[in-house]
Amino acid sequence: MMKYRSTRNPGGRVSLETALGSGTAPDGGLYMPEVLPNFSLSDFDDAETWVDIATRLLEPFFAGSTLEATLPEICADAFDFPLTTTGDDPKVLELFHGPTSAFKDVGARFLAASLSRCSNTTEKTILVATSGDTGGAVAAAFYQRQGFRVVVLFPNGRVSQRQQHQLTCWGDNILSLSVDGAFDDCQRMVKEAFANPEWVEQFGLASANSINIGRLLPQMTYYAASSIWHFRETGVRPTFLIPTGNLGNAFSCVLGRAIGLPVGEIHLVTNANRPIPDYLESGDWQPRTTIETLASAMDVGNPSNMERLRDLYPDHPVLTQQVSATSVSDTEIIQRIRKEFEETGLIHCPHTATAMEVYRRGYRGDKNCLVVATAHPAKFDDVMEPITGEVPIPKPLADLLRRPAHSREIPADVQVMMEQLSGWSRG
Ligand SMILES: *Cc1c(COP(=O)(O)O)cnc(C)c1O
Repeated sequence: MMKYRSTRNPGGRVSLETALGSGTAPDGGLYMPEVLPNFSLSDFDDAETWVDIATRLLEPFFAGSTLEATLPEICADAFDFPLTTTGDDPKVLELFHGPTSAFKDVGARFLAASLSRCSNTTEKTILVATSGDTGGAVAAAFYQRQGFRVVVLFPNGRVSQRQQHQLTCWGDNILSLSVDGAFDDCQRMVKEAFANPEWVEQFGLASANSINIGRLLPQMTYYAASSIWHFRETGVRPTFLIPTGNLGNAFSCVLGRAIGLPVGEIHLVTNANRPIPDYLESGDWQPRTTIETLASAMDVGNPSNMERLRDLYPDHPVLTQQVSATSVSDTEIIQRIRKEFEETGLIHCPHTATAMEVYRRGYRGDKNCLVVATAHPAKFDDVMEPITGEVPIPKPLADLLRRPAHSREIPADVQVMMEQLSGWSRG
């Protein structure tokens, strides 16, 4: 049976269901699988599709849990949109074909599919603070799911217009609150709510933030599928260039390689927020105040999943052999978007553009390199349009943009948030 331990207290072990429902461990650490399975390529011999490969990969992580028997169903429910690679210079792994056009859909849909199959007797209220993409993905994933309500908190005026639309176009079991403050205020309010045991009990508060193991595990599956497909075709383990903020996406790739996936080099690409590249260089972990950049979903000065990366590779010299990292500035992002558009006609979102920049700089022409595309550029029309002109809108995004939007504005005060929650009747 697979148990999950905290990065801070290896002694306390919990079940998969508990880890999924609670986000962080009670000691403030992050959950990790207690033992790492060890796959070889032949374990995937008869698995072709993303869903088949995912189901095989996640079996040991669900072993002995009440969800074990439903894992195939969970994977089919969550991974119901295309996972594709396009191009060959570079090959691009497109993770943005889900309902909200960013890779966050993968984790959010898997978490929703899993939690809705846990035996819940009381209604759960998912609280999620978002700087843009997470809240929309979580709202979309839980929309109209029985037994769940979602409260999305976002900083008023600090997300793109289309992101805001994705956060506020739901209704029914989703409550969108526009907070008069910054993302950090939203996060603080969520933490304050969870720190009050009466509220946790009364409202069945649950979290769906990016440190939940229920988002990390499914994110391994697209690295599994794409690395296995590439290896079968070429006999070579591909390199991944990964746009990185809170390190959730990239850590999934690192963990996937550690359990035997045919993944080669892993290069973490950050925006101007540089704690990760600086740490790899110096060995001295220094979280910083967040800097605002054009790749806003990667604006993280203190990436939480660093704690998992250092748990897996506590020894700095070993860690520096496992991953490399580069920081890309806003000027470089704009120039890269423009150049790619002029020279190839392709449009990359500001996040993906960071990885594209590193490809052109250090991996140009490498056929065994996959650039990870984390969002569709049409989500960031405010950044894109001055450079590329209008970006064609993909169908899932167009469908959401047609829905009417509603949100309530509140001050950055947890009491007011809880009053809203108390007075909220679904409609
Ligand atoms: C969240 C996000 C990232 C950063 O992912 P992390 O898991 O936080 O490293 C990159 N690009 C986009 C589009 C995102 O939404």
